[in-house]
Parts: sequence; structure tokens; C-alpha cells
Amino acid sequence: MENLIIIGSGPAGWTAGIYAGRAQLEPLLITGRAPGGQMALTSEIENYPGFPQGISGQELSQLMQQQAERFGTRMQMDEVTAVELSNHPFKLTTYGGEYEAQALIIATGTSPRKLGVPGEAELTGRGVSYCATCDGFFYQDRRVVVVGGGDAAVEEAIFLTKFAKQVYVVHRRNRLRAEKVFQERAFRNEKIQFIWNSVATEILGDGKVTGVRLKNVNTEVESVLEADGVFIYVGSIPNTGFLEGQLNLDDHGYIVTDRQCHTSVPGVFAAGDVQERVLKQIATAVGSGAMAAMEAEKFIAELEDKAYPERTD
Ligand SMILES: Cc1cc2nc3c(=O)[nH]c(=O)nc-3n(C[C@H](O)[C@H](O)[C@H](O)COP(=O)(O)OP(=O)(O)OC[C@H]3O[C@@H](n4cnc5c(N)ncnc54)[C@H](O)[C@@H]3O)c2cc1C
Repeated sequence: MENLIIIGSGPAGWTAGIYAGRAQLEPLLITGRAPGGQMALTSEIENYPGFPQGISGQELSQLMQQQAERFGTRMQMDEVTAVELSNHPFKLTTYGGEYEAQALIIATGTSPRKLGVPGEAELTGRGVSYCATCDGFFYQDRRVVVVGGGDAAVEEAIFLTKFAKQVYVVHRRNRLRAEKVFQERAFRNEKIQFIWNSVATEILGDGKVTGVRLKNVNTEVESVLEADGVFIYVGSIPNTGFLEGQLNLDDHGYIVTDRQCHTSVPGVFAAGDVQERVLKQIATAVGSGAMAAMEAEKFIAELEDKAYPERTD
């Protein structure tokens, strides 16, 4: 029987580990298949306080892990496939086994949304990627397409110019959603060319990517853009498949919580990007991870008070 199981090893999970460890709960953290979460896949983080020169996502993730382990958080490389939350203690099934816990913190974040066009699935890993940090290196002196217009798309397009000779950013609107600082940097970068009002309708290639079929959303005119790689940043979907029917999710699958990270099930807390309507950033994930751990500590203390009430005689 565990006191507290934290599901997810992104910034929300590791921060929950730091706080719960310091509260002597000896938490168990189950990493999922992406240790470090989306953070570890981010090339350069410039807006997380304390690192004025920026820091790579991989390095920040390792520092958070070390800090959590220093306070007694135990790490298990595994993935949760099912939970049973209707009875207490809660039951978890993973690929490696079964667990029981007094309290749970769900910090499972999100996964990249797929474009859902022909060629995407077949050519994933063969030129189609969702991670510039992982795959950018393979495109030295090549041409790549980035699909999307938000922070992640523009930030990673700039990163890709370190390797590629030409980076096309294909965006369905005529202006970007990304932070102004990224926009200005991208507009100044001679290797980046914007293709506005356009969507990718097919990824082309046979065994490896050779280009992208585009459609202008205003004129409906189609064209083919030749490229060696396609990086897709068109949003994210919450990693909550294993929670369906167990607690309240919103219409998009995000976990409904109050401001203290309580879910609809007492003793189960959620933190980070997986919560509905939060700013999806490392600073906010860290804040909610801390809050969830403190609330879990309170919940466990109350359980113990009930089990061993103070003598009044
Ligand atoms: C390309 C890109 C660039 C970004 N740049 C920045 C930036 O510059 N600054 C910034 O502040 N934010 C940035 N972000 C956003 C930031 O990465 C996220 O807000 C942050 O990582 C969310 O943290 P999290 O802990 O909630 O979730 P995540 O980091 O997504 O971690 C989720 C964790 O849950 C685990 N998991 C999932 N399902 C299961 C399961 N069933 N069982 C066990 N574990 C599971 C995963 O393995 C992972 O470890 C960027 C995001 C992207 C995609």
C-alpha cells in the first residue's frame, strides 16, 4: 500500500514529488513512456524563472528529478493503463503490475494532436515528427515544413534553422498566435518562410517524406511543397484515456478540478496541463504540482486522524 502515487514525470509530477517527499510521504512516481514529459522534448526554455540565459528542457527535467529523488521520491518506469477510483484505497494497473494508494496525483499532461491527413501515420518516423529536439539533427542542410502557428510551432521552427537550410511554416491563418518575442525572432530569421492561409492536406512520400500537399483556405488552390521533413505542432490532447468513467472530465477529456487541484473524487488530485482551462506552461505546471502535493498530504493526514483519533479521556 502506497501513501501517494504520482502519475507522470513532467514538471507537475516532479514538483509534486519534491513537495510530497519533503512532507515525508515517500511518494512513488510512475513516469509514463515519456520521462520528463513535454518539457524534456523542448529545445530551449527561456521563460522559466531562475535561468536568465535559458535552459534546455532535458536539463531542467533532470534537475527536477534529482531534487525530487533527494527528498525520497521513488521512480518507477511504467505506464498506468487503468484505475479503479470508486473504492478506497485506489487501485492502479500498469504494464508491470498492480498498486494500491491512499491518494493519487494525476499529472499525465498531453500528447501532440495529429493532423489526421493521408500519409501522416505511414510516414511518422520517416520524415514526419512531433519533436524538433529529438529529430531536428537529422535535417542538416535539408528543407523542412513546420505545420502550426502557436508558441510550440514558432519556437521549434526557430530551433530547426540550426540544422535545416530552409524552414517553411504553414499556418491556416494570416497571423501567428505565438508570443510576440518568438514572432519577431522568426520574422527576422532569413531561413524561415511563412506560408499563410494554408493547410496541409496530405504528406507525400514513399518510404520517406518528399513533400506536403497544401491547400489555400481562401482560394482553395492546391499546391505541392517539396520537403524532406514535416514537424507538426497543431495542438495537444490530454492523456486521460485510462480515466474514462472514473472521474469528471470536460468535453475535450481534460480533468475538471477546483482551484486546489481537487478532482471529483476525494483523494485524487490533478496537476499541470491535464487540468481543464490552465495556461499550459512549465511555471503553471510546477505551481499546481506543489498545490496538489500539499492537498494530498492534508487528505492522508485526515485519513490517519480518523483511523487513530486522539484520546480525549
Ligand atoms: C514544443 C513545445 C515547446 C514548449 N515550450 C515551452 C516553453 O518554452 N516554456 C514553457 O513554460 N512551456 C513550454 N511548453 C509547454 C510545457 O512543456 C508544458 O506546459 C509542461 O511540460 C506541462 O507539464 P506537465 O507535467 O503537466 O505534463 P507533461 O510535461 O506533458 O508530462 C506528462 C507526463 O505524464 C506521463 N504520462 C502520460 N500518460 C501516462 C500514463 N498513463 N501513466 C504514467 N505516466 C503517464 C508522460 O510520460 C509524462 O512524463 C512547450 C511545449 C511543447 C510541446
